[in-house]
Amino acid sequence: MDIQQNYENILRQIPADVTLIAVSKTRTVEEIRQLYDLGQRDFGENRIQEMVEKHSELPKDIRWHMIGPVQENKIKYMADFVHIIHGIDKVKRLKEIQNQAEKAGRIQEVLLQLHIAKEDTKFGMSAEEAEEILKSNPQQLYPNVRITGLMGMATFTEDMDVVRNEFRGLKNIFGDLQKKFPALVNLSMGMSGDFEIAIEEGSTMVRIGSAIFGERN
Ligand SMILES: *Cc1c(COP(=O)(O)O)cnc(C)c1O
Repeated sequence: MDIQQNYENILRQIPADVTLIAVSKTRTVEEIRQLYDLGQRDFGENRIQEMVEKHSELPKDIRWHMIGPVQENKIKYMADFVHIIHGIDKVKRLKEIQNQAEKAGRIQEVLLQLHIAKEDTKFGMSAEEAEEILKSNPQQLYPNVRITGLMGMATFTEDMDVVRNEFRGLKNIFGDLQKKFPALVNLSMGMSGDFEIAIEEGSTMVRIGSAIFGERN
């Protein structure tokens, strides 16, 4: 696997207004540095501990995205550096993020994860729950937290019509909410297998791992 060739190939397919997050979970610090040296600055991890270790070893201008489930007891370890937490699946997570962001003296950007897939195993809230949270005056309840968008994962299937429909549904929810809450600017959807479709359907952030680094073990 030639990381540089994969990376350049992916970059060519991503419009300038879409952010590429290189998903580096399970990858070594050396592999991440190789991509860093090619200019990549946004990296995504799904385990807090692993991200914290990599953050300590790598250049500090990397923007680290937590794309996995939010393990509440570990938020404190990333609160002083994590760029965006994508996977807010329950309102109660915001409370702990508020506590830790306040301690760290930061404003923490987060995305609400919506459940759009058919699988029950995937995390996320409904559009109604997301709207409830946005209506509850979160800036006042959680002054150190900024909800700046939505995240979603499509069903794991070969059927790209299903995937497209799920992304389109999420984009519609995003569009509706954006009219009421203009602070929503990020729509995080699309992975190695479906990022082209996600971009066609309005994604602003794609999270790509194996198409850059090769298959994970
Ligand atoms: C692993 C992961 C990705 C990247 O998956 P690839 O198929 O390797 O691109 C994207 N989003 C989330 C939430 C992930 O856990």
